[in-house]
Amino acid sequence: MILIVDDKPENLIALSKALEGRGFQTDTALSGEETLKKVLKQAYELIILDVQMPGMDGFEVAETISSYSKTANIPIIFLSAVNISKEFITKGYASGGKDYLVKPFDTDILVLKIQTFIRLNAIQQALQAEIQKRTQAEAKKDEFISIASHELNTPLTSAKGYLQLAEMSLKNQQTDQVQMYLERSGKQLNKLNRLVTELLDATKIESNKLKLACKHFSVSSFLENAINNIHQSYPDTKIHMQGVDLSGLSVYGDENRLEQVLLNYISNAIKYAPESNEVTVESLLLPDESLQISVIDHGIGISSKEQQQLFQKYYRVEESDGKFQGLGMGLFICAEIIKLHKGAVGVKSDLGQGSTFYFRIPLNPVTVESSISAN
Ligand code: ADP
Repeated sequence: MILIVDDKPENLIALSKALEGRGFQTDTALSGEETLKKVLKQAYELIILDVQMPGMDGFEVAETISSYSKTANIPIIFLSAVNISKEFITKGYASGGKDYLVKPFDTDILVLKIQTFIRLNAIQQALQAEIQKRTQAEAKKDEFISIASHELNTPLTSAKGYLQLAEMSLKNQQTDQVQMYLERSGKQLNKLNRLVTELLDATKIESNKLKLACKHFSVSSFLENAINNIHQSYPDTKIHMQGVDLSGLSVYGDENRLEQVLLNYISNAIKYAPESNEVTVESLLLPDESLQISVIDHGIGISSKEQQQLFQKYYRVEESDGKFQGLGMGLFICAEIIKLHKGAVGVKSDLGQGSTFYFRIPLNPVTVESSISAN
């Protein structure tokens, strides 16, 4: 929509008719004051502004429009029959105008200028949006690097400390102590290993190198293996199984990668539910011939605003930042793995009540790549 501003109604009618005849939508204003009200209410692609008007003149109007952040980018073309000296033209550009046309003017030339300015403006807006996006991504990456260095350093320092204690206990021949410190050191090294694996996976995803090694596998033994794995790392947590009987069911996919997703969901369910030691794993077969596996916890929960962003790279809920360790990478990697299986991930949660994280994969995907893992 183009806004034409002139204090003479006959000029407005003539120009708006000419432009509408060439396919533009137009709106009109009879004064500077009316123009300012209109630009704040409606988004215009371009303004054609008469210079000489009673009250606010065109230059003042342009200066005000250029000073509002909401309207600063609207291109302005000045039109004048009287103020045509170099001094006025200079003032027109200085007040924020993109062009200064002297009456009488050729309507075809005006149309070409309008089209050019609208196109250039669209390109400029797109570039600005891209710059903003990249600046934000850069800031996020910097923040991530500082979090990652801290997260990697913590288990490393602890493991080193426990090894020193084990060494001292060994000198004093306190075998039980040695064993305890070695176990603790081992746990810290496992943590470090998980973090490094997450970083490597995220790098693979970024360079499109995360590949699946797909085959048919039994869903019930897949679940059994994953639960055994969890029992070893979290012996105090009870895992309840519910849902349909899966015996005899097989799916086609990358079993290791899918186990990684399930383990990530379950370890998050344990980590973000410090007051509870129970997690439920539910399996369902959906009418669209897909398998849905959900992990249900009674932990801190997530607000609906945050839920939409959880599967993004580096995303961590602000309140849990600091209280719980993590890189904000796990769910992003899960979502990518499930995407490669042509499936879907999701979450349902109530703040303070708990969360259900689920993934769905088609039982018989025709299109999942059966490539060899790049590990
Ligand atoms: P992190 O390494 O931070 O745990 P994730 O990508 O696995 O990274 O999770 C992203 C964020 O989602 C976490 O920082 C946490 O705030 C939130 N989150 C994930 N799982 C749960 C859960 N079961 N309950 C509550 N919050 C969760």
